[in-house]
Amino acid sequence: MGMLAPDLYYSSVTEIDLAMLSGSGVRHLLMDLDNTLMPRDRSDVPGEVREWLDALPGLGMDACLVSNNWHAHVQGVADLIGLPIVAKALKPFPSAFRRGLAALGATPRDAAVVGDQIFTDVLGGNILGMTTVLVKPQSSSDLPHTLLLRRAERLVLAGREPLA
Ligand SMILES: [Mg+2]
Repeated sequence: MGMLAPDLYYSSVTEIDLAMLSGSGVRHLLMDLDNTLMPRDRSDVPGEVREWLDALPGLGMDACLVSNNWHAHVQGVADLIGLPIVAKALKPFPSAFRRGLAALGATPRDAAVVGDQIFTDVLGGNILGMTTVLVKPQSSSDLPHTLLLRRAERLVLAGREPLA
């Protein structure tokens, strides 16, 4: 289970202990979009998540979106929240994460992957040796293949509860 286990697990991005992450040397966040920053059943990023993102620079941190989403509207969302984006990312394969790292001038040692899926976000982050942060999916709406994987995710998590 090593490659599938997240280092940290929170109920949502706004619960992530950024001071702790920063204290452990993480300066850069490679963020998933769908069901991490934005519920899949919405077309905009909630205000409290925008505020959370806006607080990153004050903590000496920055972020890049790394999304498997193929639709054109994700670029608009990225523009709206002012973050660079690597779309059509094919997570968990490392190439898109590497492009995200390059966009931020980051290395795996000082970056964390943040996402709601074990088999894309967490696995991909662990393959590259990054800190991995799992959040609960922000809606129950998912693509059909993702819904199948949710059952396997529950097995991997084996009753593990979010830290906050
Ligand atoms: Mg997601």
